[in-house]
Amino acid sequence: MTFDILVLGAGPAGASAAYTAARAGLSVALIDKAAFPREKLCGGGFTGRSYRYFEEIYGAPIPARLIETHHSASFYANGELLSVLEDIPPIHLTMRRGFDAEMCARALAAGAADYTGQRITRVDPGAVRIELANGERLTGKVLIGADGVNSQVAKALFGQSFDRDRIGFGLEVEAPAAADNPTAPLRIDFEAAQWGYGWLFPKSGSSTIGVGGVLSKNTDMKAEMADYLALLGHDPEMPVKGHFLPFGDFRKRPGRGPVLLAGDAAGLVDPITGEGIAYAMKSGQLAAQAAVAAIKAGRPDSALTRYTRALKPIHSALRQANMIRQIIFSGPLRRGFHAAFRRSGTIRHLYMRLMAGEIEYATVATATLKRLPGFLLRALRP
Ligand SMILES: Cc1cc2nc3c(=O)[nH]c(=O)nc-3n(C[C@H](O)[C@H](O)[C@H](O)COP(=O)(O)OP(=O)(O)OC[C@H]3O[C@@H](n4cnc5c(N)ncnc54)[C@H](O)[C@@H]3O)c2cc1C
Repeated sequence: MTFDILVLGAGPAGASAAYTAARAGLSVALIDKAAFPREKLCGGGFTGRSYRYFEEIYGAPIPARLIETHHSASFYANGELLSVLEDIPPIHLTMRRGFDAEMCARALAAGAADYTGQRITRVDPGAVRIELANGERLTGKVLIGADGVNSQVAKALFGQSFDRDRIGFGLEVEAPAAADNPTAPLRIDFEAAQWGYGWLFPKSGSSTIGVGGVLSKNTDMKAEMADYLALLGHDPEMPVKGHFLPFGDFRKRPGRGPVLLAGDAAGLVDPITGEGIAYAMKSGQLAAQAAVAAIKAGRPDSALTRYTRALKPIHSALRQANMIRQIIFSGPLRRGFHAAFRRSGTIRHLYMRLMAGEIEYATVATATLKRLPGFLLRALRP
């Protein structure tokens, strides 16, 4: 079978790519080893940025049945309360099983050919071809690799899906829901993991609890998770699941010629918050738009140049976030940041507006640099 565009992976990046390309009138194959609905390990934090991108891509807000909205958050460091913020910009939570199934269904309804629930035996980016276990061969003009952090497409292009020294890792569990979950604040614990954090996201059906951070800085993340569960009053022996998270290690060249990488496959995860759904959806859309333009111009090989140009704002936000995370997570400055977070309404407000997707990292970077001397002074205080 021959298509204009092959999309491998039907998560937020792949579904958004397939939806965008199919709506533009091109023939698209959406391929995933999983049949939907399927589980995906994720906190399901759906920020204002995700909310906005979803609406931009699918032309209407995310259906209310897929999200729960919270208006308060509490922040801790080493088990000590730093601050409870009430009336923050809305922060939404979703369950990936339902959310991803919805987006995949939209892509198929838009006209993408359904190759979900298929085992893939070979990915050949050079020939823009994918082979399925049933012997079928799918060929395209452009291939979008949206196959997550362990991307086979990235591996075929660059030899490895990610750099083990820089990758992040997260552990998570769905604990029983507490009675007050629908109104309880989201909880963030800055020191639950090194170069990362712990989270408790209260949902109506469960409490999603996790720790995540840069893998190389956390030699025993299982122990950190057990400590965190105990701190929250849960059984530390509870079985947990883990997954890699491209925390601040994005690909400067997200593909080659007519082969593009989107979402986690391109490392597009916020290195401070671990948020990846928003950039996955947006990069899927941008990859599809670049592919459509390249095919319409009769030059599929130009897809990467177009896509890299379109990704510039996301790449620049990730660079700024990488810079700010040195202040939030590294050595002595970390103490200064915690002290500032406890005392300064401005810092807390900035952080929440960032999480809500109301502002971008450029604004936070300027504000952070202005406060750097203050962080240093606080860090040096006995
Ligand atoms: C513990 C944890 C917590 C997180 N919490 C949050 C959060 O609260 N908020 C947030 O915004 N982000 C969060 N993230 C990040 C977020 O989950 C990812 O950034 C996001 O899922 C990326 O979307 P994607 O479409 O690129 O990849 P994925 O969602 O991973 O989708 C990839 C798809 O590709 C398919 N696939 C993979 N390999 C193949 C193959 N060889 N052949 C065929 N199909 C294949 C998979 O089945 C899957 O459906 C979290 C991540 C982790 C690990």
